[in-house]
Amino acid sequence: MTTSGVRVRIAPSPTGEPHVGTAYIALFNYLFAKKNGGEFILRIEDTDATRSTAEFEEKVLDALKWTGLKWSEGPDVGGPYGPYRQSERKDIYRPFVEQLVRDGHAFRCFCTPERLEMMRDAQRAKGMAPKYDGLCLHLSAEEVTERMEAGEPSVVRMKIPTEGSCKFHDGVYGDVEIPWDSVDMQVLLKADGMPTYHMANVVDDHLMKITHVARGEEWLASVPKHILLYQYLGLEPPKFMHLSLMRNADKSKLSKRKNPTSISYYSALGYLPEALMNFLGLFFIQIAEGEELLAMDQLAEKFDPENLSKAGAIFDVQKLDWLNGRWIREKLTPEDFLSRIFDWASENDRLTEGLKLAQSRISKLGELPPLAGFLLANDVGLTPASFAGLKTSPAETLEIINTVQFDLEKIVEWNVATIEEELRAISDRLGKKLRVVTPPLFVAVSGSQRSLPLFDSMALLGRSVVRQRLKVASQVLTSMVGSGS
Ligand code: GLU
Repeated sequence: MTTSGVRVRIAPSPTGEPHVGTAYIALFNYLFAKKNGGEFILRIEDTDATRSTAEFEEKVLDALKWTGLKWSEGPDVGGPYGPYRQSERKDIYRPFVEQLVRDGHAFRCFCTPERLEMMRDAQRAKGMAPKYDGLCLHLSAEEVTERMEAGEPSVVRMKIPTEGSCKFHDGVYGDVEIPWDSVDMQVLLKADGMPTYHMANVVDDHLMKITHVARGEEWLASVPKHILLYQYLGLEPPKFMHLSLMRNADKSKLSKRKNPTSISYYSALGYLPEALMNFLGLFFIQIAEGEELLAMDQLAEKFDPENLSKAGAIFDVQKLDWLNGRWIREKLTPEDFLSRIFDWASENDRLTEGLKLAQSRISKLGELPPLAGFLLANDVGLTPASFAGLKTSPAETLEIINTVQFDLEKIVEWNVATIEEELRAISDRLGKKLRVVTPPLFVAVSGSQRSLPLFDSMALLGRSVVRQRLKVASQVLTSMVGSGS
């Protein structure tokens, strides 16, 4: 236990690949805990059962472990306020929801998804922001009991003041005022009995004794709901800090369509975790030019949460590359360097599994690098010539690549069987034979028409690397189709 009492957390939702934005927020919290002699906690927010998966949770945990950040409590290490996975805390939330309903701060709502959709459409047509219209707000207790006993599905929504505004202080934004009429009567408990993010988040931050909530600015607009919930429950809210989102160099929101955003992508390409943390940590400190190369304890020393900008942190890959190069050249001993290479190459068993796949395809060991090198390469050097020998025309190849690029995102568990299944389904949808669809993919993924088995290779490369290679292939083919070549 620490003496300062400061407790912060990172609370990722395992609904996608581990995002560099999660590492950025995690690092802030970690440095904040370190600076204040506090505790840094990991909580998995998986109340959205339709989007959360075990694969993504494992990936998020692996990625956060890879960053080198250490948490003192979490689903993998336990702790005094567990469980640290929200799906295992369902029974903990129920009394809080019941208390809100009993005290008249929340109400049962029986509106069907169809009715809500019609209501929202009508509001949008009038130029209004969609918001619950309060139809179920004044149902009598008898009617509620009757409808519930009849088995009619319902949710619980929170009541929101009809006038005035919510005023609060944010550690980054300063004094903030949000009018209540812009706040929706948020669903707190879903029809399946699971709490929503808002309910679970407030209850858990309270029960886990979180003192400071530092998270992305996208949650700033939710603070009124959270503060109101604390108030309704008679609890003290934590202090809030909303960090500006990371952006692309053109100031657009960091999204995987523009730049790879998955931590797994950067580890697969051989970025050092220290360099990525160093790069992200520079957003939280003030330093002079020439002082950029900093290890974690130096970042903690210089960390200054009072001096954060709202301007947005630019994810400048060139700067990351520059720092990574400096870390490799200046911070690693030759022995460290070698062990990093071997650790990196064998990440997710890609080297061993890849080499096994090569055994039946070579007659001399020296043929390995050109055959299997694509499993480790940063990019496979695609040019129009790479696609030249294919039977499909550039336009047809582009159609295949674009369809696959889009449809692969639908795969929930990324493995050989699911990749094969999805590619077979895509072939059917395109009305093409699988053996017509796969050759363009061989080229896109490996840079060559002769390589290792496609499904296995895609599984070993991982979805973030495959996504990036398909994107590059699509760009090359688009330029070919555009120029008529
Ligand atoms: N589960 C939320 C997310 O993934 C956490 C937001 C918060 O920290 O309150 O963004």
